[in-house]
Amino acid sequence: MTTSAKKFDLCVIGAGPGGYVAAIRAAQLGLKVGIVEANHLGGICLNWGCIPTKALLKSAEVHHLLHNLDAYGFSAENVKFDFAKIIERSRGVSKKLSGGIGGLMKKNKIEVIDGFAKFLDSKKISVSKDGKEVAQVEASYFIVATGARARVIPGMEPDGENIWTYREAMTPKALPKSLLVVGSGAIGSEFASFYKNMGSEVTLVEMAENILPVEDEEISKLARKSFEKQGIKIHTSAALKSLKVGKGEVTASVEIAGKIEAIKAEKVIMAVGIVANVENLGLEKTKVKLSKTGIETNGYLETSDANIFAIGDVAGAPWLAHKASHEGTIAAEKIASKMGKYDAKKVHPIKVENIPGCTYSMPQIASVGLTEKKAIAAGKKIKVGRFPYMANGKAIAAGETEGLIKVIFDEKTGELLGAHLIGAEVTEMIQGYVIAKQAELTEEDLMHTIFAHPTMSEMMHEAVLDAYGKVIHF
Ligand SMILES: Cc1cc2nc3c(=O)[nH]c(=O)nc-3n(C[C@H](O)[C@H](O)[C@H](O)COP(=O)(O)OP(=O)(O)OC[C@H]3O[C@@H](n4cnc5c(N)ncnc54)[C@H](O)[C@@H]3O)c2cc1C
Repeated sequence: MTTSAKKFDLCVIGAGPGGYVAAIRAAQLGLKVGIVEANHLGGICLNWGCIPTKALLKSAEVHHLLHNLDAYGFSAENVKFDFAKIIERSRGVSKKLSGGIGGLMKKNKIEVIDGFAKFLDSKKISVSKDGKEVAQVEASYFIVATGARARVIPGMEPDGENIWTYREAMTPKALPKSLLVVGSGAIGSEFASFYKNMGSEVTLVEMAENILPVEDEEISKLARKSFEKQGIKIHTSAALKSLKVGKGEVTASVEIAGKIEAIKAEKVIMAVGIVANVENLGLEKTKVKLSKTGIETNGYLETSDANIFAIGDVAGAPWLAHKASHEGTIAAEKIASKMGKYDAKKVHPIKVENIPGCTYSMPQIASVGLTEKKAIAAGKKIKVGRFPYMANGKAIAAGETEGLIKVIFDEKTGELLGAHLIGAEVTEMIQGYVIAKQAELTEEDLMHTIFAHPTMSEMMHEAVLDAYGKVIHF
């Protein structure tokens, strides 16, 4: 039985970085907005993804610094850590930010409905909690922002105890002595980096030829070299065949160069990708079509159902919080324009090629646009520039001499096709190149830009100069 019937201009399903941003933007534009959330405001990003992992990685960075103090003229004895406190700090950071979203919903007069949403038809959903319907909602438009979950390999299902997904990896009871990380994308590499820095023996297994397989090959190879120098064991072109849980140990059978090897570890983290949350949503009652990776959308996040938009992880790659949020803004503005509350000319489709990707391991990795291989495969004649950290004054002063900045230009037009960075602070620096790409700056514009000295960002300038034979400091 329906306990309440609510009516909105827009109802958003899922309050992750896609959903809550869409709801706020729509409310700013004068729409009456509701948002349905089955678990926690803030979604995976704030509760189980971007933010808690960065809190953990900060602790690993502090640990690393405390064990390398002599390089800066210090010494310290008896340096210890309390692992439970490190985890507690990470959970606290998440809780604080998730709570903040509640405040933002109130401030923007967005009604939060606690429960799981399911479509009854294109303009109506049923919301249930603990198996009971708590509300029905009618809206002129819906935005599906239900996110994604960890991919599970049949027969190697995480058990929460010995075989972990990112959730257990973020809340361990104790630091494992040894750890096998399966999958070396951003999530796998960040956990490998965290646990290695904290003192676990870490093995990283990757099916592709290189770790961080979506990155430029040269950068992936540098990341591998650095991880191996830190003591992480890496197997690439390696296929996990099975996992056997024993007493206090998991044995993984991994096919490496045609031979099966047994790798033993106390815990295993499965980081083999994610799957869109499209099930149990009642999508069959709508005209929404699915793609291989989630809900099919166009550049404005419209689905094949005129009343329904889809954004963020549920709408496919890249699976990143800032992509979800930006899509949320586009969808909200598009809907407002359809309702006559926003100028349609101001709504621009998403440009996937301008979305940066960052991995916050040690060293950090960041990129935007085409890799060298992809630029060549696209038939482009290219100019490539590089600048190494070891030649930058600020990097030397900071004791951060490991890293490289690489840029790829279209030789014909001077368009910046891609930028690929590895080293300290690159997850902050990448934004410079993202702005350049978005504003369609050419190599000339970048060469005429004055960078402050001494900064690590100067390397961004030098890499551009290098592409055109004008590099100064290397
Ligand atoms: C360990 C880890 C680290 C990460 N680090 C980064 C990073 O550093 N940077 C980055 O950009 N990205 C990172 N990500 C990815 C990022 O978390 C996601 O891309 C982002 O959360 C996607 O946002 P979203 O709004 O699409 O979905 P989510 O954040 O997944 O939110 C979806 C929400 O919908 C709710 N929901 C689902 N179904 C229903 C329903 N039927 N009814 C009501 N509510 C529903 C869920 O409870 C959830 O709260 C990381 C992910 C993980 C797992």
